[in-house]
Amino acid sequence: MTQDIYIAALDWLGRGFDLLPIQPGTKKKAAGFGVYSSRITDQYFAAQYFRDASMRWNLGVVAPEGTIILDFDNWDTYLDWVRFAKRFDDSMTTSYTEVTPRYGAHVFLSGEVPDGLKCRDGVEVKHDVVVAPSIVGGVRYESLGVETHIYHGSLDAVFFFLSRPCPDSAVQVVSKMRDYDGGAISKIKGSLSIVELMRKYYPRTKLKQRGIFYNSLCPFHAEKNSSFWLNSQLNIFGCHACKARGDVINFYALAKNINNDQAVRELMTFYA
Ligand SMILES: [Zn+2]
Repeated sequence: MTQDIYIAALDWLGRGFDLLPIQPGTKKKAAGFGVYSSRITDQYFAAQYFRDASMRWNLGVVAPEGTIILDFDNWDTYLDWVRFAKRFDDSMTTSYTEVTPRYGAHVFLSGEVPDGLKCRDGVEVKHDVVVAPSIVGGVRYESLGVETHIYHGSLDAVFFFLSRPCPDSAVQVVSKMRDYDGGAISKIKGSLSIVELMRKYYPRTKLKQRGIFYNSLCPFHAEKNSSFWLNSQLNIFGCHACKARGDVINFYALAKNINNDQAVRELMTFYA
C-alpha cells in the first residue's frame, strides 16, 4: 500500500512540485511541515516519508510558481467550469484533474496568472492540496482520466470564470433541478452503473479495461482512435476529443438524445 503513494510522490517531484507529508486519514499537515515552513524537495526525504515510514502518510503537493489548482467543492460547479473553459481553449479541460473524496475536483493549470483572481461560490484557487492516492475519511483521491499532462498557457479563462456567473448554456446542469429531487438524483447515481449503461446502449463498442478505467471509441462522435473513457468507481465518463463528459444521468441523456431533466424523470421511474 505504501508503494503507490511513493510512486505518486516521485511523479510530483518530477513535475516541479514540492511535497508535504499529511497525517494518515486526514488533510492535516504533519507537525513541522507547511507551505511556508518545511517542504520535501528531494527523493531522499520523499523515500523516508512515503516509502520507508511505518505508517502510510497521505501526500500533499505545493505547486511551483505560476501553477494553480482550481479546487471545486462539487461536481456540478466543475462541469460549469468545463463548459466555460471549452470556449477559450479545449486543451484546458483535459489538464490533469483529480476527484476528491467528497466528489469535488482539483484541476491543475499552469500559465500566466492574471492579477486579482476573484472567487465564486463552489471554487477556490489553491497552491497546495492533498492528492491521489491519499485517503481521507476512508475514500481515495483519484485521477479523473488517463491523461497526466498539466495545461500550460493563458489562464484568462480562470479569471473570467471566477469574475462572473457562468452564462447559460445549452447543456443543463443536474444541480439546477434539485427542487424536485428529494434524493432521486443521488439514488439514480448510486444504482445505475455507467459501464452497464455503456454496454446496454452501445453493445457493439469494444471496451478495454484497465483497473477502474475503461477505454473505447467514443459513442458521441465519429473517431478511429479511442478517446473515450469510463471510470467505473466514480461512475463518470469523458472524451478527450469531443469533450463530452459527465455522470450516469448525463450519459443516459446523451445516449437517448434527451435533456438532463427528461433523463432524470425517466430514470426516476426505475431507480428512485
Ligand atoms: Zn467523443
